[in-house]
Amino acid sequence: MDVGIIGCGTAGAASALALSRAGHRVTVYERVPAPAAIGAGLVLQPTGLWALARLDPAVHAEVAAAGAPITALRCETPRRRTLVDVSYAEVAPGLCGLGIHRGVLFRALFRAVQAAPVTLRLGVHIDTLVPDGARHALTTPDGERHGPHDLVIVADGARSSLRDDTQRALHTRITEYAWGALWFVAPDPDGVLGTRLHQIADGTRRLLGLLPTGQDPDGARVGSIFWSIRGDRVDAWRAAGLAPWKADVVRYAPWTAPLLTSIERPEQLIYTSYRHVSMPRWHLPGVVYLGDAAHAMSPQLGQGANLALFDAMVLADCLADVRPDAPPPLAALARYSAQRLRHLRYYQRMTRLLTPLFQSDGGRVLGALRDLSMALACKIGPLRRMMVTTVLGIKRGVLRRSLPLGPLYDPPRLLP
Ligand SMILES: Cc1cc2nc3c(=O)[nH]c(=O)nc-3n(C[C@H](O)[C@H](O)[C@H](O)COP(=O)(O)OP(=O)(O)OC[C@H]3O[C@@H](n4cnc5c(N)ncnc54)[C@H](O)[C@@H]3O)c2cc1C
Repeated sequence: MDVGIIGCGTAGAASALALSRAGHRVTVYERVPAPAAIGAGLVLQPTGLWALARLDPAVHAEVAAAGAPITALRCETPRRRTLVDVSYAEVAPGLCGLGIHRGVLFRALFRAVQAAPVTLRLGVHIDTLVPDGARHALTTPDGERHGPHDLVIVADGARSSLRDDTQRALHTRITEYAWGALWFVAPDPDGVLGTRLHQIADGTRRLLGLLPTGQDPDGARVGSIFWSIRGDRVDAWRAAGLAPWKADVVRYAPWTAPLLTSIERPEQLIYTSYRHVSMPRWHLPGVVYLGDAAHAMSPQLGQGANLALFDAMVLADCLADVRPDAPPPLAALARYSAQRLRHLRYYQRMTRLLTPLFQSDGGRVLGALRDLSMALACKIGPLRRMMVTTVLGIKRGVLRRSLPLGPLYDPPRLLP
């Protein structure tokens, strides 16, 4: 097939690698003229690591070598009352996630795309899909036309403008969250962030996140700091200067003091907002939506990049038996949507449910209810297990069987 992919982020780059290897003719359109290795830390869960290893073992090895193993997730109140304290080893010994600098993941995928038989069109902003018989052409705001392609993969991220063309056909629902996060990647030469993802939640209006992030693209050991904030309060936060914020962070997590010394101006912390995108299915004839374009969610459960990698892997599997002379593979795309349904719905519903408990104006009362119920849930065996498997990225429903851990649980292969 002739495949056009819009966006060279996690989902776009991963699907370009998988589909070019399967013998399809692939063109990637990326609006940024010179993509760079920037961004905060994120956690690659066993699901994302597995998908990455299957998509490209060399990319997986490069990413794994630069990441920091994450063995546990701890969330507590400022008074050190435990809300969540789960370790990956509770599911299988040696299992872990990987804290990774987004730039490292991006660079590894991007270099592999550059080396693959893929036509890479940088600095091309696609804003419309135009039906052309059974195919689709792509156009830019100044009327440049590209394609047509047998299959178009829309992977242009949470703020996709391509969804608008088909929104009515797919009944896409988009909700903006009022709350987002400020983030900063700090040098952490002594590894004070250890090996766990650590959160301190003070009511629902304050949340500090600390993530060991491995090496940055220059090879320095770093950690990521996240600070929850409502979008309309960012200017006031910046105007107040860093002193009161640093005092709060050190009060919540005294061991972070060495990381804070590299923050000298409020502008060094970058604000990112979240949105929730939901579609009843992720395909139309000749078009499929992947990654955040298809199912953006708040990063509360740290699954977005993992789901994007998993999308790319499942799509490549669903297209594996499409013959080059076959018509546009509607049945294969329908199979893709069906296979992704439970996994994606579970994480969309859980993030929608959990996000206001950690980031909202609910304040002390909602925060106290959350503290009580989460601390209790952590002590009840089945609920605790549900927490761990949710973090692992393998859940497909509250009562449904999870994705099999068998192929996932191969630490020597997942983490050299
Ligand atoms: C604060 C924060 C923390 C997070 N933490 C985690 C975590 O711990 N674990 C995790 O798995 N995920 C995490 N995520 C989510 C994760 O970053 C995203 O889900 C993931 O990057 C989505 O990948 P994508 O390829 O769908 O989109 P993107 O990475 O956004 O890529 C989209 C690409 O499309 C390009 N593009 C956009 N529009 C156009 C256009 N019109 N034409 C051509 N190109 C275009 C963009 O330039 C970009 O390169 C976090 C997100 C945030 C905000």
